[in-house]
Amino acid sequence: MALNPRVKTHAQIFSTASKKKEKKHWKRNPEKSCDSCIKLENNFDDIKHTTLSERGALREAMRCLKCADAPCQKSCPTNLDIKSFITSISNKNYYGAARAILSDNPLGLTCGMVCPTSELCVGGCNLYASEEGPINIGGLQQFATEVFSKMGIPQIRNPQLPPANEMPESYHSPIALIGCGPASISCASFLARLGYDNITIFEKQKYTGGLSTAEIPQFRLPYEVVQFEISLMKDLGVKVISGNYSLGLNEMTLTSLKEEGFKAVFIGIGLPQANRAKIFQGLTTDQGFFTSKDFLPIVASASKKGMCQCRSVLPEVKGVVIVLGAGDTAFDCATSALRCGAKRVFVCFRKGFTNIRAVPEEMELAKEEKCEFLPFLSPREVIMKNGRVAGLQFCRTEQMEDGDWLEDEEQVVKLKADYIISAFGSMLSEPQGSDW
Ligand SMILES: Cc1cc2nc3c(=O)[nH]c(=O)nc-3n(C[C@H](O)[C@H](O)[C@H](O)COP(=O)(O)OP(=O)(O)OC[C@H]3O[C@@H](n4cnc5c(N)ncnc54)[C@H](O)[C@@H]3O)c2cc1C
Ligand code: SF4
Repeated sequence: MALNPRVKTHAQIFSTASKKKEKKHWKRNPEKSCDSCIKLENNFDDIKHTTLSERGALREAMRCLKCADAPCQKSCPTNLDIKSFITSISNKNYYGAARAILSDNPLGLTCGMVCPTSELCVGGCNLYASEEGPINIGGLQQFATEVFSKMGIPQIRNPQLPPANEMPESYHSPIALIGCGPASISCASFLARLGYDNITIFEKQKYTGGLSTAEIPQFRLPYEVVQFEISLMKDLGVKVISGNYSLGLNEMTLTSLKEEGFKAVFIGIGLPQANRAKIFQGLTTDQGFFTSKDFLPIVASASKKGMCQCRSVLPEVKGVVIVLGAGDTAFDCATSALRCGAKRVFVCFRKGFTNIRAVPEEMELAKEEKCEFLPFLSPREVIMKNGRVAGLQFCRTEQMEDGDWLEDEEQVVKLKADYIISAFGSMLSEPQGSDW
């Protein structure tokens, strides 16, 4: 080997410690030690890895092979014509891309931001095994619809339909939709696109958007996104009546709606009740126990500007927080707890890492923010001190050869904690009112 023409007369050696110190000025990735972590408290900025700039979107769109078989589309529950909207993006026709997306899915921006794409379209992409990986379809969908949302273009009635006064009488029949979450927004949009022009959504809360507004955190799905999709729906004449319009309460029943002349009712009330394990019965938020359905709506109303006039503040979740569960909701609770001021967050779950229900992206975000994960733990007893949560006792779980899970009461694990948040999923509330 011929050396460089300028031969070095001595080796250049620096101590690792001095280089580590110097590196701090240049390092782009965050430090592993939590002492120098980025402060997350009250920071609700976008944290999604999939969000793309225009340059990133164009580059990503150019990579798409526009496959004849398009397995991405076959894996999409809304059957989006993915290669066609990606082609529009690569031609810088962002309006055309958004038009294709929103025509198939009125919640195209929401889905671009929070759809579990790795399980769906991205998981089916033919480039999955390539060096650069599959196409970031969610990111492209978000990019195109976000650009469109800034154009301020309203949705118009289908010009191919006959004028409203020439439509058959049934198209003017009153239709009620109960609950203003994604299900009703989508249903109302499609009905209105077909030409139905007397649609009313009744929502029990003062805010609209269902869980997209009340529970999915601002840093994954901003409030304005949901409002943009609701405004597109309203462009077609859909009326929304919110606040105190609850089916089963205030004498609003299916019978009363029928008597008022509604010819069809769509029930889109979601799963409003949290599952609460027996050991947590009777515990309150003042004592340090939250279900995800207690916790996330308070975080949302305090962090989503415009959602409510209540001037609510973030829950005071300081110290050590245990989050129970391993679905998307658990990770949203964990990352939200950090933003409420938690010092450490432990996500504890009954099964192993390989059985986690949440999509890998969600878990990755929580890991980056230094949440700790504790698998194979099943909660047994809440440890109380002076009437407040002081910790949680678990037993270890183990998977048997036949696949069943065993809870081993002899292997006990105790964790100190100031707060417990359980994210065990939701269920439909008890029927209310005589017509239920
Ligand atoms: C924390 C969290 C994170 C999530 N993350 C994702 C994600 O990343 N990706 C994803 O695809 N999905 C995610 N989901 C799931 C998604 O939010 C739901 O699937 C979706 O919101 C369901 O829509 P829906 O319209 O059926 O119900 P909801 O969103 O629950 O809307 C129902 C609406 O009905 C109203 N209502 C209830 N009862 C009545 C009544 N009696 N009368 C009148 N109105 C009533 C409610 O106030 C609500 O506004 C997440 C859910 C949660 C909780
Ligand atoms: S499978 Fe992947 S590469 Fe092929 S059309 Fe779909 S997004 Fe493009």
